[in-house]
Amino acid sequence: MNIFNYIIINIIETLLRMFPFPCKPGLIKIGNPDQNSPVFLTCNFRLTVERVKRALRGIDGYLLIANSRGINVWCAATGGHFSNHHVISILKTSGIEKLVAHRKVTLPQLAASGIEAKTIKNKTGWEIIWGPVYAKDIPRFITNNFQKTLPMREVEFPLPQRIEMAVAWAFPISVVSSLIMIPFWPKDILSLVSIIWLLSFLIFISFPIYQHLLSSKGKRIGFIFFDFGRGGFQFILWAVFIFILTFYQLSYGNFSWGFTFHWSFISLIIILILSIDLMGSTPLYKSSLHEDRLLRVILDREKCKGIGFCEQVCPRNCFKIDKSRQITTMPSGSVRCIQCGACIIQCPFDALYFESPKGDIISPDTIRKYKLNLVGKRV
Ligand code: SF4
Ligand code: SF4
Repeated sequence: MNIFNYIIINIIETLLRMFPFPCKPGLIKIGNPDQNSPVFLTCNFRLTVERVKRALRGIDGYLLIANSRGINVWCAATGGHFSNHHVISILKTSGIEKLVAHRKVTLPQLAASGIEAKTIKNKTGWEIIWGPVYAKDIPRFITNNFQKTLPMREVEFPLPQRIEMAVAWAFPISVVSSLIMIPFWPKDILSLVSIIWLLSFLIFISFPIYQHLLSSKGKRIGFIFFDFGRGGFQFILWAVFIFILTFYQLSYGNFSWGFTFHWSFISLIIILILSIDLMGSTPLYKSSLHEDRLLRVILDREKCKGIGFCEQVCPRNCFKIDKSRQITTMPSGSVRCIQCGACIIQCPFDALYFESPKGDIISPDTIRKYKLNLVGKRV
């Protein structure tokens, strides 16, 4: 794909980032691969595939594209759309086993919360290497002998990504709001769209300023950041606004349904933008109503063998491995943890588990049963 088409695809798919964008699953040859060439596997979210293909330019290898229904790697893996089943299926049906003499496949690290390396190995004989979080790091990962450096493992939320997410929020909300407004208040569309874009950019660009408040563990942060689905706080806020609006009009004796609907709609959009949960858009959480966000990862030192699979898959770099002494530690405990469960799923010795604030233990088996069998359901 030439650079012009690549840029166009990046723009379109950033604007529509919240929606699945599938491309054809299957096997792609990159360069002139032979039987010893590396094999990479990713999901069929089109933007991801294009970015991986771009990162692999100049490398001879194979790229397997599993059917995640066009959803990106992390969302698909945590939602059951990119699972053991999908990986086994593409490994067995793509013909890759006849093309290479080895059985090693590199997967994106963020798939580790929905795919278990041990199961894939047992069922197919293929060994999973957890590649970097971002496709752009693939060339350095390869030259580093398929080893990740610390930055390659960590999910950051740098400015370019925050801008991407602001656009991904603002665009669909602007389109839907404009379509609703066209028949009633066409003159106000520009003002509302400007507010939507301004607020979206403000929320994401100022994220580093307020993120430390959102990462507090064990506290209910709530208030204006309540989860829209469960909290109901926004509806109360909205109702209060409509009440004041109506009261104000009635007191001056000039009540108008049109004026009331107009401002009710605009205020609803503003409240929605301010209160949408950042989960899935950022490595942190905005609301605190989900119990699993309060879980702590516990390391059982008796069972741990210090081999470091947990370190390889943790997107928050919570683990430190002393390979010479085969000792694993979690230097800052669970403070940075986002409860993705990847470390627990991948630990072959069941040395990690979740503990609830009340002290209940959630065993690795339970986590695996839940996380690996979501089949499209997040809850
Ligand atoms: S916790 Fe598990 S995966 Fe991590 S080093 Fe120990 S044994 Fe290995
Ligand atoms: S420590 Fe937390 S963030 Fe890291 S892999 Fe485990 S559950 Fe995920």
